[in-house]
Amino acid sequence: MLVSAKEMLIKARDGKYAVGQFNINNLEWTKAILLTVQENNSPVILGVSEGAGKYMGGYDAVVGMVNGLIKDLNITVPVALHIDHGTYEGVLKVIEAGFSSVMFDGSHYPIDENIKKTTELVKLAGDKGISIEAEVGSIGGEEDGVIGAGEIADANECKQIADLGVTMLAAGIGNIHGKYPANWKGLDFDALAKIKAATGDVPLVLHGGTGIPADMIKKAISLGVAKINVNTELQLAFAEATRKYIEAGKDLQGKGFDPRKLLAPGFEAIKVSVKEKLELFGSINKA
Ligand SMILES: [Zn+2]
Repeated sequence: MLVSAKEMLIKARDGKYAVGQFNINNLEWTKAILLTVQENNSPVILGVSEGAGKYMGGYDAVVGMVNGLIKDLNITVPVALHIDHGTYEGVLKVIEAGFSSVMFDGSHYPIDENIKKTTELVKLAGDKGISIEAEVGSIGGEEDGVIGAGEIADANECKQIADLGVTMLAAGIGNIHGKYPANWKGLDFDALAKIKAATGDVPLVLHGGTGIPADMIKKAISLGVAKINVNTELQLAFAEATRKYIEAGKDLQGKGFDPRKLLAPGFEAIKVSVKEKLELFGSINKA
């Protein structure tokens, strides 16, 4: 059964570790992540961008697939199904479809508009026992075709949004989506400390977890980050393993073209990548 992300994030905040949000794209992704968190007794948040939701056929298909896998694979660790960077309309749709957690990304609106819309959705999600993430300060890089410059969130604006009663808050601290450029300056820990001081108990979320050095991840967790989003890293791992299989000509040997064989190396690569993240984030045996 899907759960809200609230309880797992409070435990993570208090226990000084982070819960991973791993974005899913299809059956292989979802199964690999669920099996790995179950093997490692870790809570997990499955992220779905609006683009990925559309790709998988729609939100009902996503909910059906995830709930079916939880049942068929006997997954007993806490699993939250969460829309990643949801629009106002997208959040309404996934709540209707049965998601247990939402992110409303109003970071591109003026702060007053972000507050207004976040307030409405906090009320709606709260009434249904669904956790809600809000965002202040856009996160750089590309997500579903939208390229952000990577702002440092204003601590006072973070406090205004946190005070609305959100479950978790994403705040830009120099992190970006996708691969980090060679000249990246790193996370801004002074900004993170200021945001933490201004927002109090609200668990903080770090987007763009792919390629942030381990020591920076650990420092961010020590400063209040309780949820870390990983998306690109699993895509790179899957693509590399699949490419090796094809380049070795294995799809041409016997029934190597069978999708159950063709997609197996990528599936295993996702499992390895997820396990590494669970270790780094400290969420193993925290289910
Ligand atoms: Zn993000």
